[in-house]
Amino acid sequence: MTENETIFWNRILELAQSQLKQTTYEFFVLDARLIKVENNVATIYLDPMKELFWEKNLKDVILTAGFEIFNAQIAVDYQFEDDLEMMPGTQEGSQAFSSQNINPLPLVKSDLNPKYSFENFIQGDENRWAVAASIAVANTPGTTYNPLFIWGGPGLGKTHLLNAIGNSVLLDNPNARVKYITAENFINEFVIHIRLDTMDELKEKFRNLDLLLIDDIQSLAKKTLLGTQEEFFNTFNALHNNNKQIVLTSDRTPDHLNDLEQRLVTRFKWGLTVNITPPDFETRVAILTNKIQEYSFTFPQDTIEYLAGQFDSNVRDLEGALKDISLVANFKQIDRITVDIAAEAIRARKQDTPKMTIIPIEEIQTQVGKFYGVTVKEIKATKRTQDIVLARQVAMFLAREMTDNSLPKIGKEFGGRDHSTVLHAYNKIKNMIVEDESLRIEIETIKNKIK
Ligand code: ADP
Ligand code: MG
Repeated sequence: MTENETIFWNRILELAQSQLKQTTYEFFVLDARLIKVENNVATIYLDPMKELFWEKNLKDVILTAGFEIFNAQIAVDYQFEDDLEMMPGTQEGSQAFSSQNINPLPLVKSDLNPKYSFENFIQGDENRWAVAASIAVANTPGTTYNPLFIWGGPGLGKTHLLNAIGNSVLLDNPNARVKYITAENFINEFVIHIRLDTMDELKEKFRNLDLLLIDDIQSLAKKTLLGTQEEFFNTFNALHNNNKQIVLTSDRTPDHLNDLEQRLVTRFKWGLTVNITPPDFETRVAILTNKIQEYSFTFPQDTIEYLAGQFDSNVRDLEGALKDISLVANFKQIDRITVDIAAEAIRARKQDTPKMTIIPIEEIQTQVGKFYGVTVKEIKATKRTQDIVLARQVAMFLAREMTDNSLPKIGKEFGGRDHSTVLHAYNKIKNMIVEDESLRIEIETIKNKIK
C-alpha cells in the first residue's frame, strides 16, 4: 500500500470505531482489508456477508476519509474471497497480500491462548487418554474422534488441552479456520447477532470453520435462552456433516448435562468421551517442577514435595500457590524457598475460608460498558445518547441489585447523581425486563460476567 492508502485506511478504521459499538466494530470492520485506491475507487476486501453492513453504515465514513486524504469523492468496490482467487493477478492486488505476507483470508480470529501447548502439558495417568485423544484429533482433525468430548473437574487442564489442539493444528496449517470460544461467549454472540438482526453472519462465521473448540459447554445447558441450543445444534450438524472437527469440554459427562436438549447430548456421544481426573502426587510434583522454571527462585525438592502434598485436587491451586510464594519471596527478597517460607506464603490459600465477595460498583460499570460498547467515563457523565442511557441505567440497576450500597452511595459513584435518579433507573429497568426478553437475557449475561 502507498503511504496515502495506509493513512486513508487508518482514518476509516478510526472513524468507524468512533461511530460503532466496540463489538460491532470488531465483528464487521476488523477483518476487512484495503487493497488499493485507484482512479478514485477504493477496493476493499470483505467477507461477503458484511457488504450490506458496510453499504448501510460505513459509506459516509469512506467518503469523509476520501475527502480528507485524497481530496476526492472515493467510490468503493468490494471484493470477496472468490473474486480474489480468480483475479488475474493484477499487480496491485497480489502485491497487497504478498507484502503483508499472510494468508489472504485471515477471517477467523482463533482466540486461542498461545501459551497452552502439548509440550507444556504434563502427562500422568489421570489425563493420558485425554492427551492421546487430543493429539490424535490435532494430527488428523475431522477424521478420528468427532466430536471429542473432554470432561473433568475445575483446574485440571481442559482449557489448556483445548487450546493446545488449536495451536497445534494452526502450527501444521496456518490457513486452517480454527475458533476457540466458551459456550458462554457463543451465547453472547448469539444475543448480539439477534440484536443486530444479523444471524446470517453468525451462521456464516461458525459453519465455515475447520475446527471448532467449545469450552465449558455446560453453560449452554444452564441457559434457557430460546434458540441458542437450536443454533448450536445446527452449527454442530453443519460442521460434522462436512467432517470438520469439533472438540468440547465440560465439567460433567454428556449424560449429566441435564438441561441440554437430548438430541445434542446424543450427538456429543457420537465421537469419543474422555475424562480427566485430579493428578496424583507424582504428577503434581512433575507439574510443579515444570512450572517453577518460570520463576527465578530456587525450590529445593522437599519444598516441591511439600507443596504437592498440600493441594491435591486442582492444578490451578498449585499454580496459585507458586504465585503466592513469589509475592512473599519478592517482598522479603528471598531466593531460596524453604518449606517454612512456602507454608507461610500459602497459609491464606490453605485456610480456604469462603470469602464474602464484595462487588465494586466500578466493576459493574466496566462490565456493562464493555457489553454495550460504552466507556465507564461515559456512564458516569451526563451525555444522553440512547446507548449510553441504557448502559447507565442497567449499571445502576445492577449496582442496586448486586451490592448493598445505599442509593445515595450509588448515585455518587455515577458522577454524583441524586438518589432519586438511581431509584428511577432501577424501577425503569425492572419494569422493562418484564416485557423485554432480550434485555433480560442481556442483563443476565452481564451479571454472569460480574460474579
Ligand atoms: P480447566 O479448564 O480444566 O478448569 P485449565 O486448563 O484452565 O483447567 O488449567 C488450569 C491451569 O493449570 C492452567 O494454567 C493449566 O496450564 C494448568 N494445568 C492443568 N493441568 C496441567 C498439566 N497436566 N500440566 C501442566 N499444566 C497444567
Ligand atoms: Mg477451563
